[in-house]
Amino acid sequence: MKSWADDARQKGLRIGFVPTMGYFHEGHLALMRRAKELADQVVVSIFVNPIQFGPQEDFRQYPRDLERDIRLAQEVGVDVIFTPEAQEMYPESFQTYVEVAKLTKPLCGARRPGHFRGVTTVCLKLFNIVRPHLAVFGLKDYQQYLVIRRMVADLDLDLEIIGHPIVREADGLAMSSRNVYLSTEERKSATCLYKALCLAQEKIKQGLREVSLLKRELEQFILSHPYTRIDYVEFCHPETLEPLSEVRGPTLLALAVFVGKARLIDNAVLKP
Ligand code: AMP
Repeated sequence: MKSWADDARQKGLRIGFVPTMGYFHEGHLALMRRAKELADQVVVSIFVNPIQFGPQEDFRQYPRDLERDIRLAQEVGVDVIFTPEAQEMYPESFQTYVEVAKLTKPLCGARRPGHFRGVTTVCLKLFNIVRPHLAVFGLKDYQQYLVIRRMVADLDLDLEIIGHPIVREADGLAMSSRNVYLSTEERKSATCLYKALCLAQEKIKQGLREVSLLKRELEQFILSHPYTRIDYVEFCHPETLEPLSEVRGPTLLALAVFVGKARLIDNAVLKP
């Protein structure tokens, strides 16, 4: 991978990169198409990164289908698919981690200890191996996008980070590899995340500004759907992720909800 990247750079080609955990859906493919538009050569990595999963999380069950992924990526025109093994990424002697201090504290960082340390560490390693000029990340993982941007700026990485809008199913459910965990009945309930984002935007348009009241309404709405359990419903500053008590300017509404055993996340930047 490294010698291919050196070679491409020597030829003056711009390398676009899309890091993924595989099991592709339209969201992944949209990121790849965006990278194709912006770069001469597109590299996609498929790596289910063990160090970003907690001990009770779904690392083992995480869906995998490399053959299908390769076919879909080829159809989009991806040039290189990079599929390292956990053993080569993390040999026995491995002991260095990267951590973004503040942005990783709230939201998913609070609920998944060590998750973002795993994400930043693997992304920095992948950036050093693939040597991209730009990398495309989905805004579905909004906090991840901010954390990666912070790391790139703080560590002076010579790389542009592009955020791509959330790709949704026809009924609004954000596409996710984890949606395969949903039963038919749970799949119906799963639309409550997107509906809650729309409900919040509607309430704000009507003049509701108080976050405590908005939260109560949204929590009731989500829990009125069977199989749901709320992990968090948070209103925060869209750049710093600091919690807000009132909606005055653009506000990130971030949701994490268990539907059955699937932990789903979604978000929107709401405007008063
Ligand atoms: P994953 O394979 O889930 O780690 O995701 C790989 C990349 O695809 C990340 O940058 C995600 O944010 C992005 N992504 C996943 N789902 C979506 C979606 N529904 N819309 C846009 N980007 C997404």
